[in-house]
Amino acid sequence: MAKIHWIIYIAVGLLVSVLSKRLNYDKLIFFFYAGLAFILVGVVKLVYSLRKKDERRQTAQNKRQSAFGRQQNNLQQKAVHHLKRCPRCGNIARINDRFCNKCGSRF
Ligand SMILES: [Zn+2]
Repeated sequence: MAKIHWIIYIAVGLLVSVLSKRLNYDKLIFFFYAGLAFILVGVVKLVYSLRKKDERRQTAQNKRQSAFGRQQNNLQQKAVHHLKRCPRCGNIARINDRFCNKCGSRF
């Protein structure tokens, strides 16, 4: 379906139905109902676009949540950076440790 804004459907529908009613309702009754149909399509499109906006808002929320998850990952990686290696035996120790708990060498 071509991307036509819902307000155009409603505007055209209103215009056609009002004009046909004003000019010659008996002869232009088809246009009157065509206009009503256009209004209906416009309303359906309006509802549809509103629902899509809602979906977009939700995906934005999901993105924010995944960004939060990434932040947590970064924090975990930082926790890894709080570790250090013993220069003598290569044992992993916490950055605050003063002695290696494997070989006992001082940091
Ligand atoms: Zn060591």
